[in-house]
Amino acid sequence: MSMIDAWVAPGAKQKIVRQQIDLGPLASDDVEVAVEHCGLCHSDLSMLNNEWGFARYPAVFGHEVVGRVTAIGSSAKGLKVGQRVGVGWNSGSCMHCRQCKSGEQHLCARAQPTIVGHRGGFASHVRSHWAWAIPLPENLNIADAGPLLCGGITVFNPIMMFARPTHHIGVVGIGGLGHMAVKFAKAYGCEVTAFTSSEDKFGEARSFGAHNVVSSRDAGAFKKLAGKIDLLIVTVNASMDWDGLIGTLAPNGRMHVVGAVLEPIPFSVFPLLMKQGSIGASPTGSPVAMQTMLEFAARHNVAPQTEHYPMSQINEAFARLEAGKARYRIVLDVDF
Ligand code: NAP
Ligand code: ZN
Repeated sequence: MSMIDAWVAPGAKQKIVRQQIDLGPLASDDVEVAVEHCGLCHSDLSMLNNEWGFARYPAVFGHEVVGRVTAIGSSAKGLKVGQRVGVGWNSGSCMHCRQCKSGEQHLCARAQPTIVGHRGGFASHVRSHWAWAIPLPENLNIADAGPLLCGGITVFNPIMMFARPTHHIGVVGIGGLGHMAVKFAKAYGCEVTAFTSSEDKFGEARSFGAHNVVSSRDAGAFKKLAGKIDLLIVTVNASMDWDGLIGTLAPNGRMHVVGAVLEPIPFSVFPLLMKQGSIGASPTGSPVAMQTMLEFAARHNVAPQTEHYPMSQINEAFARLEAGKARYRIVLDVDF
């Protein structure tokens, strides 16, 4: 289908409007997916407001897509028409660089973000390279699976890379990413401490699996946790008491930032040096990591807590996320 219905942002901070757009002929490596549900990630909001400076308008956002394959390009492999798939932050990569050939396609310098120079999932249809359209396990709740495709993999990947089930994991910011991080870390077997700036989230953070919940603005709470946390997953996009947070790291501990913090993060070397600590960051994950994450989520009943809106209420949904009111991930259901 070349003409599709889409929710289009004409420019930065502008109201999103419904339009018909022409996607042109289907590329030979691509598949087309009829969108059923699409999660609303804070990155969509940052792109709507052009906070990172590389948004391209008119834009169709939405990169936590769940839907069914409706068409398959002549060279696309491994998928069937009618199959349920998910598409996340990337919908393509070059497939011939060192990263792509070694299974780290999310680190490809030419990875194609689904919502930058490409039409995303707030639409009737979205396109993706076949390798980035991830088959969904049968026993996953499809209506709530979308947020796993970006938010979920972004917090699952550092757990897979850096955590052991015996570790103590801290999660800073209990929003879309953070609440899924708590659930994944709990299911992985870890001791989990949630850091939140919202007192009303304390109880729910516990219900997601946190053994301990503290205020992310309480230096006293950080002191009590000094030297205890093996992996601290930071999902906020704001400046924090970084020295205080680094102080909570255990020997060999790691502060891992997945939130798009725009301000530089200052840190003193000595506290980190003495405990052989590290600071790192990462973007989403590879297609195989996404598939592994989906299987893990299905096996352990890890699902986001969602609020559903019809896609026609997209502007209200963005406003709710911007106001910090989403509990904990908004999903838009297609209603063209
Ligand atoms: P979200 O749902 O808005 O959650 C962010 C949470 O951060 C909020 O719920 C809040 O949690 C906390 N927070 C926000 N402002 C704060 C402040 N001024 N001080 C302290 N805490 C604050 O956003 P999200 O969708 O989870 O995304 C989080 C970040 O990750 C965004 O920057 C997004 O762009 C980025 N992201 C990165 C990747 C990647 O590949 N690395 C992928 C997806 C998203 P509390 O109420 O608990 O404090
Ligand atoms: Zn995202």
